[in-house]
Amino acid sequence: MKKILLPISLLVVIFLIVLFVLIPVKNKPQKEVDTPPATEPETPKSWAEQMQEKYPYFVTDYETRYQSYQQQHPELAEEDVITYVNIGLDQEFYTNTKPTSFLNSNQILVNKYHYVDQNYVPDNLVALPTTYAKSGISLVEEAKTALESLMAAAQAEGYRLHVTSAYRSYDYQQNLYDRYVAQDGKEAADTYSARAGSSEHQTGLAVDLDNTKLDYTLFEQTPEYTWMQDNASKYGFILRFPKGKESITGYQFEAWHYRYVGIDLAQKIKSSGLTFEEYYARYLDPVVLS
Ligand SMILES: [Zn+2]
Repeated sequence: MKKILLPISLLVVIFLIVLFVLIPVKNKPQKEVDTPPATEPETPKSWAEQMQEKYPYFVTDYETRYQSYQQQHPELAEEDVITYVNIGLDQEFYTNTKPTSFLNSNQILVNKYHYVDQNYVPDNLVALPTTYAKSGISLVEEAKTALESLMAAAQAEGYRLHVTSAYRSYDYQQNLYDRYVAQDGKEAADTYSARAGSSEHQTGLAVDLDNTKLDYTLFEQTPEYTWMQDNASKYGFILRFPKGKESITGYQFEAWHYRYVGIDLAQKIKSSGLTFEEYYARYLDPVVLS
């Protein structure tokens, strides 16, 4: 039996060598070296693809809006074009509004494009003591705690801060806005007062400050304002409507209005040099992140 098996297995081995080694070698093209390497013809990347690679906040759905906004504003850098269109600035204030995201979160954005409903009242609203606030004022608890730390630090350095306004209900804002419209006309009122549902004060995360001596509208002239510029972000607050950014925020410079966003976010926004609108449009907007 062994005598038969050996030659058979030898034959099998030879057969396999022929099948897998010799035949492929024979059939291999001989002049391979001379033929140029086959390369895929490169298709040039589209403008949108190039932008997407450079700017993670490029939203494909907005491509035509970016292009027409860039045409209207050739002076703008492409990253600003993308950012401004993401904010909504290629459309008039209050013309392309949508309900905001992040309700009851420090990331909430309320402005002339993002609104909260008439019945939105933030969770955890707590009253502020009259030791540092006008009576009847309330704020979201986390913001209140942060504000008290901020005020204690300011006080330790000899500065006195006082809250003139914080949470405002939809109806309160409606009355306020209507009063300003009656006084100054709608166009002027829109530059300094929010329409109901579009006020950041309805989030319970915004405060207006004075220094107990001057009216809040003169806060820019106070040493407390300088202190706030250096220190607000350490306690989670940002200056919400900075000077020179009126066309982005939609509001006149307000030295007195601060928004609580949490320490981490406040420090990131501060060091970015961006407004909350710009920062949100690049890094926080669910449309960008989706
Ligand atoms: Zn305010």
